[in-house]
Amino acid sequence: MLTLDQYNFAGKKALMRVDFNVPLDKNTFEVTDFTRLNAHIRSIKKIISDGGSLILMSHLGRPKGGYEEKYSLKHIISSLKNILGQEVQFSSDCISDEAVNMAKNLKSGEILLLENLRFYAEEEKGNIDFAKKLASLGDVYVNDAFGTAHRAHASTAVMAQFFDTRVCGYVMQAELDNAKKVLETAEKPFTAIMGGAKISDKILIIERLLDKVDNLIIGGGMSYTFFKAMGGEIGSSLVEEDKLDLAKTLIEKAKNKGVNLLLPEDSIIADAFNNDANRKEADNTHIPSGWMGLDIGKKAAENFSKVIESSKTVLWNGPMGVFEMPNFAQGTSAVAKAVVSATEKGGFSLIGGGDSAAAVNQLGFGDKVSYVSTGGGALLEYMEGKELPGVKALS
Ligand code: AMP
Repeated sequence: MLTLDQYNFAGKKALMRVDFNVPLDKNTFEVTDFTRLNAHIRSIKKIISDGGSLILMSHLGRPKGGYEEKYSLKHIISSLKNILGQEVQFSSDCISDEAVNMAKNLKSGEILLLENLRFYAEEEKGNIDFAKKLASLGDVYVNDAFGTAHRAHASTAVMAQFFDTRVCGYVMQAELDNAKKVLETAEKPFTAIMGGAKISDKILIIERLLDKVDNLIIGGGMSYTFFKAMGGEIGSSLVEEDKLDLAKTLIEKAKNKGVNLLLPEDSIIADAFNNDANRKEADNTHIPSGWMGLDIGKKAAENFSKVIESSKTVLWNGPMGVFEMPNFAQGTSAVAKAVVSATEKGGFSLIGGGDSAAAVNQLGFGDKVSYVSTGGGALLEYMEGKELPGVKALS
């Protein structure tokens, strides 16, 4: 796979898929979080400083297949200009004559942003004609949008076939390198921490990790299904009744493979799903009826932390409790601190997208861990061992 550093863009017109799916203020449409814009700056600057011109394409939100003001990428132009310190042209449609002309007239060093690709339903359908029209705008294809690499959309995969030169952007490369480092060359002891609401979303990755890790920590809502499967009383905690057998099987598999499976022995329980609910501590095998576990307890946090802190490789996906509510965020925060401590001791830590990334950033630990993935679903699928269409299209 060709990387950005292996290609000189001088005199070339690069068409780069990025992930500018940023949150906007509901009323003013101003960008409220710049992480995703900042992420692509290195790739953009490399192409421009080589003397290339650049056409940027992205989706924003989930439009229904036509123009919607709240999903227009025009709202991000001023932020992008500020971050880049240069002009950014904008085409109000991604494949119109206007787009074609603007792309044609683009000079070396100039940047053109196309309107939201998903204003065309053809984008998500992976429509070949749409992909071909988009492809006609540039002469080199670059994909830097790892977060959508698990989708075979027109811009993420299908259009690649119309280019002789296909290049992997810095974000995409970093995501793949870090995921590979954990999956293929992890230094031991290797600890995976899985949390969040559901086991069903994470079965495949848990099964794959059982072949690789020394310790598997399971916290968050999904842990109660394990306690119920072992005959515990879990009150009204989150449970997936149809996954009880699976939970038993996973416990058995961990044992057979010599993996140290750690479940939280205690919880902070509440009498309602509410930050201000009454709360107390309880053993996870005896949660009274009418009460639910919303965070791991102190003993669990201590045990988990000990194991994490002595690990050389840590992979973390999913919070230990309902961390969005401050009264149930302690467990997630304790685990985050332990991950930081493992990193400070020279370990490698990968935070896998979504809620765990949000938790780490919220605590201000974003730069105290080795890598925070922007991938979410794409990272999970990659770690499950699936081939990502966006990655395949580059090779
Ligand atoms: P996921 O998308 O599966 O990683 O789940 C993340 C969500 O799980 C977050 O919104 C958490 O609030 C939620 N969550 C974590 N622990 C619990 C719990 N014990 N009970 C209910 N929801 C939880």
